[in-house]
Amino acid sequence: MSNHFLMHSDTKKGRRNSESLPQEKQNRVSFTKKTLTLPAFFPDATYGAIHSTPFNDIVPELGGIVVTTLHMSLLGLEAEFTKAGGFKKFAGLPDNCVVLSDSGGFQVLSLIKKNKLGKITDDAAVFRHPEHTTKKITLTPSLSQDIQHTINSDIRVVLDVPLMGDESEKEIRHAVDTTTRWAQEAKQRFLDLHSLTPSEFTNTSPTLTDTEISFSRPLLTAVVQGGNDLSLRRESGAALSSIGFDLFGFGGWPVDRDGKLLTDVIEAFVESVPSDALTYGMGIGMPDDIETCYKIGIKLFDCVIPTRNARHGMLFVSKGNGEKSGRTHNTVRILNSRYQYDLSPIDPECDCPTCQNATRAYVRFLLKKKNPVGFTLASIHNIWWYLNFMKSLR
Ligand SMILES: [Zn+2]
Repeated sequence: MSNHFLMHSDTKKGRRNSESLPQEKQNRVSFTKKTLTLPAFFPDATYGAIHSTPFNDIVPELGGIVVTTLHMSLLGLEAEFTKAGGFKKFAGLPDNCVVLSDSGGFQVLSLIKKNKLGKITDDAAVFRHPEHTTKKITLTPSLSQDIQHTINSDIRVVLDVPLMGDESEKEIRHAVDTTTRWAQEAKQRFLDLHSLTPSEFTNTSPTLTDTEISFSRPLLTAVVQGGNDLSLRRESGAALSSIGFDLFGFGGWPVDRDGKLLTDVIEAFVESVPSDALTYGMGIGMPDDIETCYKIGIKLFDCVIPTRNARHGMLFVSKGNGEKSGRTHNTVRILNSRYQYDLSPIDPECDCPTCQNATRAYVRFLLKKKNPVGFTLASIHNIWWYLNFMKSLR
């Protein structure tokens, strides 16, 4: 594989010098130091692209993206990534755009639970290929790391046993225990892939402040499970913390039956992991929920909401500029007939390329016709709005 990293010497915690590495190790590693401003929101780039949104329109504003490991693997892109040196070079993305690859676990869960295409065993997620029903795939924690290594992402996630929220206590307990075991296996694989000892991993941990994270090697994320059971959530966080990871993700959905955010579950998660590790609200995406989670301590978010809602005509605007109000935002339902002749921008306070160039009436017309240009204009606005919203939280 061609994707290796170079350890630099300038992290405050665990200062080390590439000169101190054996020569063969120096030859195998090359990775540029990266700094990500926090809090950060990463749009989801399923199948390697943010839906309807060319990178060039938003790259200058973008801190990073999330790519879906399972989709990349099912598309058979490993050879292209190996040849190019990873997804970023394959796509032509600038090196300072942080690429986070998920573990594939959530997509597997969707296939298994929704389509009844497989099962979780003690060692792996086993499922049938969604398009080739005779082909069986066994995704192990190690294989997930191997694929992410080929993607050559900056932030990687260990394979976990995700939950949909309707499981029994016994099932949640099983998911917590299996996730811990799998995290151990994934970390060992990560260490092997990078020729690191456990203490070298710790000594090259990222430097985290309130407003940024700096890192000089790819980072590894564990996913804390436990459903909405506070003690299991704490237990999962503690078990994964003792193995040692750079980031901790919130697995599952912290909402009650009415869709209300369960802040006590979020608090239990944040308190269960080391204070010098970055916490990641996986899939948490409504602006009001992001603000609440950020106040509790979560600093990295990803979600499909900005682009998915954009395609359905739900546009996020600043307070006072739309018809429906959340705590932190208003929304414009652009398909509403009231916008048919509206020549103002989607959000007069937004400086995105769409708001600089297109009217509400035009975006509405294109979306009503399901014209791909309409999807693009609306998605660019929503992502831009989200990135500005994150700045406003700082
Ligand atoms: Zn805009």
